[in-house]
Amino acid sequence: MHELVIKGRFLTSKGVFWGSIGIDEGQITEISRGGLRGESTITPGKGALILPGLIDTHVHLRDFLQREKETIESGTKAAIHGGITAVFDMPNTNPPIVDQETFNRRLGLLKKRAYSDYAAGFLVAGNCGEAAAVDADFYKVFMGSSTGGIFSQNFEEDYACAPRPVSVHAEDAEVIQKKPERPPQAEVEAIKRAVEAAKKAKKQLNICHVSTGEGLTAITEAKLPWVSFEVTPHHLFLTRKDYERNPYLKVYPPLRENGDRVTLWKHFKEIPIIASDHAPHTPEDKENGAAGIPGLETEVALLLDGASRGLLEYTDVVEKMHDNPIKAFGIRGRDFEVGGEATFTVVDPGMEWAVKPEEFYTKAEWSPWEGKKLRGKVVMTIIRGEIVMEDDEVLEKPRGVRLNVNDSTDKRSL
Ligand SMILES: [Zn+2]
Repeated sequence: MHELVIKGRFLTSKGVFWGSIGIDEGQITEISRGGLRGESTITPGKGALILPGLIDTHVHLRDFLQREKETIESGTKAAIHGGITAVFDMPNTNPPIVDQETFNRRLGLLKKRAYSDYAAGFLVAGNCGEAAAVDADFYKVFMGSSTGGIFSQNFEEDYACAPRPVSVHAEDAEVIQKKPERPPQAEVEAIKRAVEAAKKAKKQLNICHVSTGEGLTAITEAKLPWVSFEVTPHHLFLTRKDYERNPYLKVYPPLRENGDRVTLWKHFKEIPIIASDHAPHTPEDKENGAAGIPGLETEVALLLDGASRGLLEYTDVVEKMHDNPIKAFGIRGRDFEVGGEATFTVVDPGMEWAVKPEEFYTKAEWSPWEGKKLRGKVVMTIIRGEIVMEDDEVLEKPRGVRLNVNDSTDKRSL
């Protein structure tokens, strides 16, 4: 007899199976293709699919002096509403997380207020001493200016000195200075330089929000097992034309011509990670030209909708938002196996709904997909055996914990 049993149709990156999971003290203790007995049972509705808890490796939670844009509380509520069980907290906050004291303050806030689990990030820009002194879960490097304005004067050095995997925003500082509209060249040049640095350093590098076909192929052709990359839903589903119609769609890197978007889809199978780059700003800040798009509460549904239209497989969602983030960042205890945490994202792939940002938990108050009908919805989020979100309602107190990452850089091939 287990404390809890979850019964239904499970989806992993390998496919679908009917079965039951036995859970005790928040951990998976048995996986069965048949029935199991539990003191209590969760049986998601007919048609539902139970996925291992999805992870978003790129989230701006703001907070600190920008609580009007987003807080750890509102952002992580948005996460579990959108089926994201763990977020990577981006450190280009105000003040930025560039020293030990600010990092420790951030950890304290995350511990108290996060509804989802989290990985704690640290910003490296010429502060290698501080970077070595903190025990961050990942390090962020900006090659050119973005929100917050801090960027690396020496990317190679900052990447090399970071004690754990580095996520890099690859847009070239010099190109941006000459061409503030940030043409594809800004990204492509930076990606090529980052890939060259990775060849030499041979340490984990995750290239954020790749938006150009040329950038993508520069990474995949190098075939470096320690280099992963992310693509965002907005670069997969929107183009420059959408931005011309709606100035709120300003984002770095910018939305591209349709040709780039089509190339991303052509290489979809080779994309290791889908991440939102959830970047909330107030409507007022957007009016004043702030760059960034919120995405936590639409990303999983957009992928499910894409799968319902044959653009991708349902298994891709698990591979790119669970399996590969775990491999790239060396996350422990999150595998779908006995001994793993009982953390799940439950979706109904057949449910149709319309995007209404006024019902979202993020403070952003808008969405590029407002009014859009999607087929596929997150209906329940379970963290360590507790239902923390059901039918759009966040149910629990903030009980997120820090992800467990390896001590040394994980170099398992993606
Ligand atoms: Zn970002």
